[in-house]
Amino acid sequence: MRLSCDVLVAGGGVAGIAAALRAAREGARTILAEMNSFPGGTAINCMHRYICGLYSSGHVEPDGTLNGGIADEICTELKKLVPGTKPVKMGKVHLFPFATGNLIKTLRLLSEKQARLDLLYETKVVSVKVQNGRIRNVFARSNTGEIEISTQAVIDCSGEGAVIRLSGASSHISPPEERQLAGFCFKITGIEEPGDMAPVSVPYYISQAVIEKKVPDYLKYTKFYQGDTESEGYCLISIPPGDSPERIREAKKYAAAVHGILADSIDSFRNSSITEMSSGIAEREGLRMKGEYMLTEEDVLSGRKFHDGVVKSAWPIELWDREKGPTYRYLEPGAWYQIPLRCLKSPDIKNLYCAGRCISASPEALGSTRVMGTCISLGEQAGLAAAKEMIVP
Ligand SMILES: Cc1cc2nc3c(=O)[nH]c(=O)nc-3n(C[C@H](O)[C@H](O)[C@H](O)COP(=O)(O)OP(=O)(O)OC[C@H]3O[C@@H](n4cnc5c(N)ncnc54)[C@H](O)[C@@H]3O)c2cc1C
Repeated sequence: MRLSCDVLVAGGGVAGIAAALRAAREGARTILAEMNSFPGGTAINCMHRYICGLYSSGHVEPDGTLNGGIADEICTELKKLVPGTKPVKMGKVHLFPFATGNLIKTLRLLSEKQARLDLLYETKVVSVKVQNGRIRNVFARSNTGEIEISTQAVIDCSGEGAVIRLSGASSHISPPEERQLAGFCFKITGIEEPGDMAPVSVPYYISQAVIEKKVPDYLKYTKFYQGDTESEGYCLISIPPGDSPERIREAKKYAAAVHGILADSIDSFRNSSITEMSSGIAEREGLRMKGEYMLTEEDVLSGRKFHDGVVKSAWPIELWDREKGPTYRYLEPGAWYQIPLRCLKSPDIKNLYCAGRCISASPEALGSTRVMGTCISLGEQAGLAAAKEMIVP
């Protein structure tokens, strides 16, 4: 099959959906290719419960999002599904709660009714043709066969830098031993009279099992989140990065071990069971573009502004070190920094943009930029930039 478009978006996580929406709204004929059968990417695979990165830092309840736009639209649609949803405060930050199914519904609702946007699910981008420093064609594989797409611009929203890698654009990634801990989530149902203590007692009992050497050290960073009803909850376990089949088998084995410890140690978990698991390992750090500019730790913590700043963020630098576990370095209360458009543009492939997890950022800066709220706004800005380039040559 041969298709043609103005903007091709690779990957339909939150960044990809926002990029495709914005490009299409700017008048570009847009195609989004996503290898899963649903939108939302890591947020869905890893059963996230909160959108992080939407608000400025500090203790005061936020009166609006930092970037507005599609991030606001998504929150508005989520609120229609659960009226009364408000940002919740956790430590020094505010988060927007959501249920996984509602995020899929919302992303579908916004994208399926969008004019000039074609959504190709179960379609994986597998190669690209570069000519004179521009991507001319993108090749994808779907259930029905090969697809060749000619395009004016490409936005890599694959999370793992698939198009950046395939096109030979400059990229960077930390060596395997330096990458942060990855995550794997599972849902528990049948919890009886849980009370409010599970987020504290779950890590406590898993840490005890680590001390007794029953499970590996990194499981002591296990987190527990309340589900949509009192009787369900979500456990997020930490594991070393790598998405091989053996690593997924290992993650499932440790999920079962963690649940076994909880069922043995906490009365309310005794008759519970695991009813859902992540479909893969959720990586915090993957291959990223080496863009026209690389955002640094100093930029984030000093609240730096840029002449081409397009996205605001105030999320702390959140790193999941293998030895130290999670650490958070916060901006000053009320402060925020900007991400410049140059972090979304390839210096060597003229019509290649990126958004979401694969923008040009140091590992530390990525610890702040990679959360969903920021990824949505990055997608929106990449969509705008890619469409502008095409319409006004
Ligand atoms: C363990 C863990 C917990 C987290 N918790 C939170 C949280 O609670 N709140 C929060 O806001 N953020 C959280 N994050 C961060 C957040 O999940 C992601 O960084 C964010 O969702 C990334 O969005 P994205 O669109 O850039 O990428 P992704 O969501 O990874 O989407 C990329 C999409 O591209 C598709 N794709 C990949 N390759 C191809 C290809 N070749 N062709 C076609 N499609 C392709 C994938 O299937 C995927 O759907 C967490 C991250 C991790 C790892």
